[in-house]
Amino acid sequence: MHPITANGDPLMTNRGLCPKCGKRVLHVNVENIVGLIDGESKARCISYCCIHCNTVLGVALDARSKARSKNGTRTPAPAPARPAARSG
Ligand SMILES: [Zn+2]
Repeated sequence: MHPITANGDPLMTNRGLCPKCGKRVLHVNVENIVGLIDGESKARCISYCCIHCNTVLGVALDARSKARSKNGTRTPAPAPARPAARSG
């Protein structure tokens, strides 16, 4: 059973309105974007856009990103696996 109100509109408790088109923000388009620091792409971000008018409602750092560069420290990448047998 879904909590549908008399208006037949679910999620009535959601009152967020798009500042541009004025429609309630029940859904957002989540897009992957890149944050620039000094003109260089350093951070993975995500943006939330209104599904009605595509106005950007907010931008946030992508919590899944694990890029952590401090003082230029880099973790050594593991050597790629190579086929043992090689003739030539
Ligand atoms: Zn909108």
